[in-house]
Amino acid sequence: MRVVTVPCLKDNYAYLVIDDSSGRAAIVDPGEAAPVLEAVGREAVTLAAIWATHHHPDHVGGNRDLLAALPDLEVIAHHHDRERVHGLTRTVADGDQVTLDGLQARIIYNPGHTLGAISWWLEADAAVFTGDTLFAAGCGRLFEGDAAMMHASLQRLAALPPSTRVYFGHEYTEANLRFAAATEPDAAAIPAAIAVAAARRAGGEATTPSTIAVELATNPFVRAADAAEFGARRKAKDSFR
Ligand code: ZN
Ligand code: FE
Repeated sequence: MRVVTVPCLKDNYAYLVIDDSSGRAAIVDPGEAAPVLEAVGREAVTLAAIWATHHHPDHVGGNRDLLAALPDLEVIAHHHDRERVHGLTRTVADGDQVTLDGLQARIIYNPGHTLGAISWWLEADAAVFTGDTLFAAGCGRLFEGDAAMMHASLQRLAALPPSTRVYFGHEYTEANLRFAAATEPDAAAIPAAIAVAAARRAGGEATTPSTIAVELATNPFVRAADAAEFGARRKAKDSFR
């Protein structure tokens, strides 16, 4: 497996997930089509599938134009999003397996940001695509679910092998780390993470991917002791400047 990060819109990331043996690929969360088609051409791969993490337009807004260019694409999302993801050809639920040649993904249902939110976990490749559920040092807002739901979802992701790379949906890392430092001034890993993120951004690089190990050490939402503390932190973050 090879992952190519495809910046979309203002601060979204789509990911081209390539099976090198076949030259076929899936695109996770194409917020728009043009940069995805450009990456597909540049990498000289065949795009075979759209893997959606949830229904928001900044994650599936490119589906229509991608399907116009490539009508045979498989389009997969959680069954809750059956009516709200364009072009669906298959729905999935927690624990389902999705195969694309040598790529094997397992679906982790993680409601909270939305009620159809899923992560795509490629265990053999030690990678997980988390959309707007788990960000570097942050998590998505609670648009459709509640704090208990999101806390449970994050705890499931946190239980993945620590070396798992976390490919998240938005470049919010520096702002998230400012909140993390204010929330947990004694967490020693946070200042180091701030330095790493600042260096990457100064060099024009993305901060994705993180790892589960880094999130366990720096993410105040993953580190929340229980759903109540999670809820309080989520609420504080909503108005943090
Ligand atoms: Zn979203
Ligand atoms: Fe988003």
